[in-house]
Amino acid sequence: MGNVWVLGSMGWMPGAGRQSACVLVELEGELIMLDAGTGVANLAQLEDVLRSHNRLTVLLSHYHLDHMVGLMYLSRFARDLQVEVRGPGRPVYPRSTRAYASDLLQRPFYAAGPMGFSRDVRYEDYGGEGFLVGRVPVRVRRQRHSSPSFELRLGDALTYATDTRFDADAWIGYPKTEVLLHECWQLDEADMRHTSIGALTTGLPHNTFGRVVLVHQNPAWTEDDRTKVGAIASSRGFMLASDGMHLLV
Ligand SMILES: [Zn+2]
Ligand SMILES: [Zn+2]
Repeated sequence: MGNVWVLGSMGWMPGAGRQSACVLVELEGELIMLDAGTGVANLAQLEDVLRSHNRLTVLLSHYHLDHMVGLMYLSRFARDLQVEVRGPGRPVYPRSTRAYASDLLQRPFYAAGPMGFSRDVRYEDYGGEGFLVGRVPVRVRRQRHSSPSFELRLGDALTYATDTRFDADAWIGYPKTEVLLHECWQLDEADMRHTSIGALTTGLPHNTFGRVVLVHQNPAWTEDDRTKVGAIASSRGFMLASDGMHLLV
């Protein structure tokens, strides 16, 4: 039994009171964060969960700022934890996760620096290969985006697929998974780097996922757009995520 908390359900920037890309997962005794956007700020609601762990593993789908800027907020929440940050890195990218994080978190932009937001910070590359976080197997799959991004699958419990053009072929023969968190950026196929609600409702297989929850929503949506997307989503039994949403897996 595990827990999933959506801490940031928006893409690009906060909007409508919602923060950018961040999901916290408690699984097999591990505390795993999927992306570290501004949603890291919502760890303020989960300090009791943080206190029950010694280690936090942050898995980055890619390096866009809406997925990374919250690393600097970890100095408030994770100072006493060992923090390992794993991103795609080499050989997918020309440089390592540590190098990119060091660019972003260097002084004078961030006083604590790239190694300073907890007592023990480590960086690793997963480089397009699966790996283990404790006993949790993590499978990764490269997606189509403006820079390489990766789908992350944690055992049979959770698949996280954000910042990707929808790829119907990826889901053919996909193993049964309890929860799919998939980005939903637009009503139609306006932006080929991202996924529309129509592509999701027509292209996702039935019966592969116990629940489908839509994240990385577009802060440029009007309330009308959100209502429309929500109605189309619920016609297939999908849910629009909001910050603070908790799922048992
Ligand atoms: Zn994004
Ligand atoms: Zn992106």
